[in-house]
This record gives sequence, C-alpha cells and structure tokens, in this order.
Amino acid sequence: MSSHRIGIAFFYHESHSFSPLKTEIEQFVQEGYFVGTEIYKAYSGTKTEVGGFLDVLKQEKQVEIVPLVCAAAVPSGIVSSEAYHIIEKQMLHSLTHAGPLDGLLIALHGAMVVEHLFDPEAHLLSQIRSCIGSNVPIATTLDMHANISEDMLTYTPLHFGFKTYPHVDMYEQGVNAARALLTQVKESAIYYASLKKLPMLLPSINMRTAEGPMKKMIDLAKQAEQEADVYNVSIFGGFPYSDIPIAGASVLVTALNPETAEKVAKKLASQFWSIKEEFIVDLPTVEEGLQTALKLSSEQPIVLADIADNPLSCGSGDTTELLEYMLKLNMPGTLFGGLYDPEPIEQCVQAGVGNYVSLSLGGKVSPEFGKPVEVEAKVIGLSEGEFYNSGPFNQHLKVNVKGAAHIRVGELDILLIGRPVSANDPELFRHIGIEPATKKIIGLKAKNHFRAAFEPLVGAIIYVDAPGVASNRLTTFNYQHIPNPIWPLQGVKYESEKRRKEKWMH
Ligand SMILES: [Zn+2]
Repeated sequence: MSSHRIGIAFFYHESHSFSPLKTEIEQFVQEGYFVGTEIYKAYSGTKTEVGGFLDVLKQEKQVEIVPLVCAAAVPSGIVSSEAYHIIEKQMLHSLTHAGPLDGLLIALHGAMVVEHLFDPEAHLLSQIRSCIGSNVPIATTLDMHANISEDMLTYTPLHFGFKTYPHVDMYEQGVNAARALLTQVKESAIYYASLKKLPMLLPSINMRTAEGPMKKMIDLAKQAEQEADVYNVSIFGGFPYSDIPIAGASVLVTALNPETAEKVAKKLASQFWSIKEEFIVDLPTVEEGLQTALKLSSEQPIVLADIADNPLSCGSGDTTELLEYMLKLNMPGTLFGGLYDPEPIEQCVQAGVGNYVSLSLGGKVSPEFGKPVEVEAKVIGLSEGEFYNSGPFNQHLKVNVKGAAHIRVGELDILLIGRPVSANDPELFRHIGIEPATKKIIGLKAKNHFRAAFEPLVGAIIYVDAPGVASNRLTTFNYQHIPNPIWPLQGVKYESEKRRKEKWMH
C-alpha cells in the first residue's frame, strides 16, 4: 500500500507582450497537452522537468504517482483568457478527482502573461491551494527567464530555477524539486524563502552560463548553496518581453531559517546589480556579420544567428532580412533555416521533389520586420517534420514542425518549416537529409539554446541585429506596465541601430 500520493503537473508558457500572435488553446493542444497517464508516454525518459519528477518518484516504493495535467506551448504572444481558463479548469478538475494528495510537483515557466492576468503562475497556485488546501507541500521548477512575484512565495517556498542557459539542467531541477518535496512530505521539513527583485530589465542575449555575467552569478549561487542552512538559490534573469509590473531580474533563496534566506538573498542581489552593465551588448548588423563570416577561415561552418526572430524568444520565425542577404551572397555551402511558412511547403508538396516552383517566402506574420521574398526554388526534399532531439537541450523529446521542405535557391539551401521552431537541434536539418556540419555559412533562427548541440559542430557563432520581435534592443519596445524607472531603459544607446539606418539610406 502506497503511503504518499504525489501529483505531477506542468503548465508552461513564455509570453511576449509585443508579439502579434496571441496564444490560443490550439497551440497547447498541438504542441503538448496531456492529461492523466498520457503524461507518462510524453515525458518518461526525457531530460525535462517532468522526466526528472518521474524518475525520482518511480524509485520510491512508498510513492504513488498521480499524473494530472501537462500543458506547454512554444513561446509566443500572450495567452488568451479562454486558453488559460480551459487549462486551469482541467488542472483543478484533475486535482478534485485525484483524491487526497500528500504533495504536488508542478513545472512552471514563470513568464506567462494572460489577457487580464499579469501574474498567472501566482493565480494558478492560489487556485491549486484553494483546491488541495494549505498544508499539502508544493514544489515548482521555473525557467531562468522567469519574472517572479512575492505572491508566488505565499503558496510555497520551494521553487527551483534552472541554473544553465542553454537550459540543459531542466531534468536536474526536476530531480531537485522532487527530492525537496519528498523530504518535506516525509520529514515535515520547513523551508523559508526570500525574494529580492531588482529594478533591472535585462536582455537575455548575454545570459549564457558558460561565460559572462550570468556565469558569475550562478557560480556565486552555487557557492552560497554550500553555506549552512541554505537549501537552494535561484538567479532569475527575467523575461524582458513581458510588459507586466513584475517583469525583471531577481534572486530567490530558500533556507532552513528566514534570517539566512534574507541575508544571502540581499548579498546576491547587490552582486547582481553591480555587474548589470555586462549584460548589455551591441551586435553587428546582418551585413557586418556576413562580412565577418566571410573573413573567418574555419574548417567548420560559421553560424549567423538571427536572435531577434528566435521562435523560442517568441519570434515568428519568418522574418526575411538575413535570408535576403544570404540569397544575395549566393555562395555554395550556405544554409538558412528553419523559416516558418506553411504555404510554400504546400506548394513544394504539389510541385514534387526535383521540380522548380515560384515561392513567396516569409515576411507574413510581421511584415514590418521585412517583406516576403520572391524566389524560384528547386524542391530537394520533403518531410512530415517529425524528429527526436539528439543534442543536450530537451534531449530525446519528440519535435513536430508540422511539415518541412528542403529547397534550393541559387546556391542557398533553405529549410522551410510548418511551425515556428528554433533551430536548437541539428536533427531539424538532418531529418530531411541536410547535414549542417558540412556547410560553410549557416543562418539560423536561434539564440542561445542551439549552442548546446551546435557548438561542437561549428567554427564560430555570430549574433546579428536584424529587426524582430525579440530584439536585444529593449529600447525599441513601447512598455506600458513594467516598473518605472527600470534600468537600463532610460540610459542605454545601441550603436547598431544607427549603423543599420546609415547603411539603408545609401
Ligand atoms: Zn529560458
């Protein structure tokens, strides 16, 4: 007879307040919506937070796993009230019918925004509490790019933020959350959390944890975790495209007594504030980036990353500036992808492999960031668009890009995909017969996560400043709800914007 019944759930979205694409229930249903035992099939054996929950709980003889609801959609515009309430209702329905629980593990993101709801994660936790009562322990996992509120801490002190970017420790934090929850369930341990919110809105461009300022903060967090009574430290860079009053960076410390939590959080917050300038970088324009790539002599491919249109940062995946430059370059050994555009994929399917077809590529979701590009393309390959990640990020997770076409325009190989998906794993290309490692220059719709799998394959990575909804230049957004003042919106100047304009006027 099991003595502890532990619920598991997942509700995940990173919402961009300035994206024109609202996130509806269809996106969750298409991309990942599982109820009850469906969750095992979707997440068992994956290196995700839920994969971590399951592995820890399965090892415990005295635990019965109660799978509830998992809903996740790719980052996009704010979630519609309807979509949020459908998922919340399902979550509460599952909890009500699950019978009494001894604990709940829930993987959250922390940067979801819902129409008329600025802090949906806190709202969800409050609804869950009203359903399961105030005494059942809850532990969450959160993205490093979470915008955390004090309100969230009132429902549980146990929150585990990712410590890596690219996020290759989702599984590990799932394991940590599950272990902490079991300790609380079995030993009635009491934890205290202290949150320090900083008045700074940081672009994630320089938040990698292999080097740079975020590495410094994560190293300090790990050091602090060695101190007596400190249980867990999370450093949150925040998600700067959420236009909400709780947007911004923060430090969260969980400890065995409130004084330690407060002292350590205060110290780390002041260290975070002191290195804020290091998070701001000025990028080359697309033209400058390509020129640099041509000058570099490397045996391995050079990647140009179109970070402002990275789908995982809510980019539409269909902006065309980098594509246009690469078409103009017309150089053998060049590859661009994945460009989100279902219409030309359908045209390629009609035309068939080996045939030529006139296509209008990209520029449809947000034409203000670049018009569609008209091309005459040869269809090289077609696929249903399903593959499994092989790299460290979301390893073994099944990805479905809703159809793909490999086309060639002049010398440029282009991958078209039926859903905006970041080029985070080489299988995106390999599944349709393209080997990125054999190319000279690759243009990717990606930001930092792709480094986990691509760094071993490539000679250099150049981030370029093309227009897009996920631009690192936060001064381009018309914020209405973020705290004011907030660093660095009042003072920073980006030279790349000036250089882009100068080039365009010629
Ligand atoms: Zn993140």
